[in-house]
Amino acid sequence: MVDTYEEDFNYPRFTEDMVKDHTILIPQMLPIHMSLFESALIQAGYKVEIMRNEGPEVVQEGLKYVHNDTCYPALLVIGQFIDNLNHRNDHDKLVLLITQTGGGCRASNYLHLLRKALKKAGYGFIPVVSLNASNLEKDSGFKLTFPLIRKLVPAITYGDELMYLRNKTQTYEVNKGETAALVDKWLKKISDQFANKKGISHGDVKKNLNQMAKEFDAIQVDLSHKKPRVGIVGEIYIKYASLGNNHLEDFLVSQDAEVMVPGLYGFLLYCVQNNIYDYEIYGKNKRTAKISKLLLWYLRRQETMMINAMKDTKFSPMNYFAHTKELSNGVLDHGTKMGEGWLLTAEMMELIEEGYENIICAQPFGCLPNHICGKGVMKKIKSIHQDANIVAIDYDPSATKVNQENRIKLMLAIARERITEDDKAEL
Ligand code: SF4
Repeated sequence: MVDTYEEDFNYPRFTEDMVKDHTILIPQMLPIHMSLFESALIQAGYKVEIMRNEGPEVVQEGLKYVHNDTCYPALLVIGQFIDNLNHRNDHDKLVLLITQTGGGCRASNYLHLLRKALKKAGYGFIPVVSLNASNLEKDSGFKLTFPLIRKLVPAITYGDELMYLRNKTQTYEVNKGETAALVDKWLKKISDQFANKKGISHGDVKKNLNQMAKEFDAIQVDLSHKKPRVGIVGEIYIKYASLGNNHLEDFLVSQDAEVMVPGLYGFLLYCVQNNIYDYEIYGKNKRTAKISKLLLWYLRRQETMMINAMKDTKFSPMNYFAHTKELSNGVLDHGTKMGEGWLLTAEMMELIEEGYENIICAQPFGCLPNHICGKGVMKKIKSIHQDANIVAIDYDPSATKVNQENRIKLMLAIARERITEDDKAEL
């Protein structure tokens, strides 16, 4: 059935008077960050639940209600919503939240795909709200206001630092489980602070980040064996969500590899930076570019706090975004900004520069931009960095986990062979 123009605009609204008694369902993507977002949104007055349902039913529901040539992340997110709704009976008190980039990529259409799927599944009466910075829907009870941004940005900062420190530590810890326990401790501590309207000011964030780095630094590690260092890049959902990448990070850790996943901050700064490139390269809105410059200034203050927190610890700090973005120069132009665009290329170059020359590029089915900015630039990257050991892994409903893991094992075998006697001596 083809939806009419009128049907497209006659969707159920999430109004302000629904805020107090409706629960907002949010798809899982990054467990550490999402649990902090949950606390920040609760503190902002919303009732929130992160969906944790996984399994083959999610894919089956996605396949049932989304066209099978749609991007795999859309299929999974919609499948997760419908599977979750199938297992509960509080439908009249629910709202679904979906993120949108607002750019030219298909992610901007997920909202409409979800509404269409809900209608087909018999849940068309449930309101869907969009979390976006582009003001795509102006009539929603859920608004990305400045006070809310002020709460969400520290959640990203804490999430990125926790993820970074966990990745740097977990593979080498002497007492198994110590890193995971420390992550849990900090998630609880920050959530409690959010609940008491703390942990958001510049001073609080700085203090927490410094203390966090200090406590991870105190975890006893065994660095006597060099392990393969593997970076994960790709489309944002498949890169981060274990539902999308078949628990890729857990698999790599089980294979005794050190994993590095670039933080969410990079993507946030990339989206803001693209507003400036839109003006500089394509002559678009000058005012948006000016506001984006101010926003970049604010975000960079948080980034600097994260980097400074690593001082006086054994951890090498993450790079400034200003440095990362320059790394795509000569490989992919900054005007290429659909999907992860030039950021994907820049992150691969950055990982190699940081010693993670083994890279998994997680590619979802149906994603054109990532095939261009990921797979499409691999030859060029390898011509610059001969040691680069990059493998593109496809994720789609028919790809088997065994096949994906076998290809990764092959990449790890090459990585292990390359750990030379010099490396061991260096240790
Ligand atoms: S980045 Fe790729 S997978 Fe994600 S919405 Fe865009 S086209 Fe689809």
